[in-house]
Amino acid sequence: MRPETLAIHAAAQGRRANDAGALRAPIHVSTTFERDPSGAHPSGWVYARLDNPNRSDLEACLARLEGGAAAAAFPSGMAAALAVFGALSPGDRVVIDSSAYYGTRALLDAHFVRWGLRVAVADLACAEATTEALNTPTALVWVESPSNPTLRIVDLARLAAQTAHAGARLVCDNTWATPILQRPLTLGADWVVHSTTKYLAGHSDVTGGAVIARDSDDLAWQRVVDLQRLGGVVPSPMDCWWVRRGLLTLPARMRAHCAGAWRVAAFLDEHPAVERVHYPGRTHHPGHAIAARQMRDFGGMLAFVLPGGSAEALAFTGRVRLIQRATSLGGPETLIEHRASIEGPDSPTPPGLLRLSVGLEHPDDLIEDLAQALAR
Ligand SMILES: *Cc1c(COP(=O)(O)O)cnc(C)c1O
Repeated sequence: MRPETLAIHAAAQGRRANDAGALRAPIHVSTTFERDPSGAHPSGWVYARLDNPNRSDLEACLARLEGGAAAAAFPSGMAAALAVFGALSPGDRVVIDSSAYYGTRALLDAHFVRWGLRVAVADLACAEATTEALNTPTALVWVESPSNPTLRIVDLARLAAQTAHAGARLVCDNTWATPILQRPLTLGADWVVHSTTKYLAGHSDVTGGAVIARDSDDLAWQRVVDLQRLGGVVPSPMDCWWVRRGLLTLPARMRAHCAGAWRVAAFLDEHPAVERVHYPGRTHHPGHAIAARQMRDFGGMLAFVLPGGSAEALAFTGRVRLIQRATSLGGPETLIEHRASIEGPDSPTPPGLLRLSVGLEHPDDLIEDLAQALAR
């Protein structure tokens, strides 16, 4: 089945969560499941922290969309990251992409270094920097492509080959691309991580995360599942249901996000008041050729730089009327964010940079809003 079909029809196999014939699965709020007279659990479900029908359904669908053997759902993207790093052992070394989500880096620095992980930061878009970083024995490499905020692209097949050669595990945060645009497991990554809060749920109304594994018969994956089930880092049945519902329309939404971002990027690129546009769909973007090869489309995220630094960029966010000032991404509404002020004084982000999560509005309405805000 193709992604459009899988998003709708993929379901947990071999276990019936639904006896009513309902097209939409019921939400199973029960915390416990009855044994039969022999003491067995004929349904396969025992206790809701361990597993429940809504979580199984979501995990099966995520695994199939990413082309993986198994998935584990979490209550947030950061909880998924917590389980990935928690599956390592004290003394293990992590190489994290210099463009990775700031929360992921903060989690390592604030917590896991204390628990004995060694952390190195490297520009994984650069083959030489990757080789150098992997000269020291490494357990895990964490990459993100496209990344925040300049949509930097990493050649995932090249990085997977280097990571495998070094005997490390490659984990790709695929939140920005989604499995509709990019499937890292088919390019050689071992695990994929998602903040399902973003495009996968897709409506700015639920927080969630997931880890998806290419192979599920190793100890490291067992540890991720243990952290989820024994550690009790589990999403509620209701939240699983919301994310699974979002997946139904993910392929169609991604088409619209990409088409909108494409139009907005072209408009901004041609506007004399805009200094620079970062969108991998533009041929001048440094990652354009790689993105064209490894992605099905260029995504719904873009950034642009205004001359005049922080003050002008912040003033611009005050002039938009339709576009909303908020963090996060992947929802139906277009969001604008001044990254440098979010990231604080040490931010490497250009002060005049504004990030857009292009939503599902008509692109002409977005362009009109940007045009009036640029006209001053
Ligand atoms: C939002 C985000 C996260 C964190 O996910 P939460 O659901 O907010 O915990 C991780 N990685 C990327 C790329 C994100 O955009």
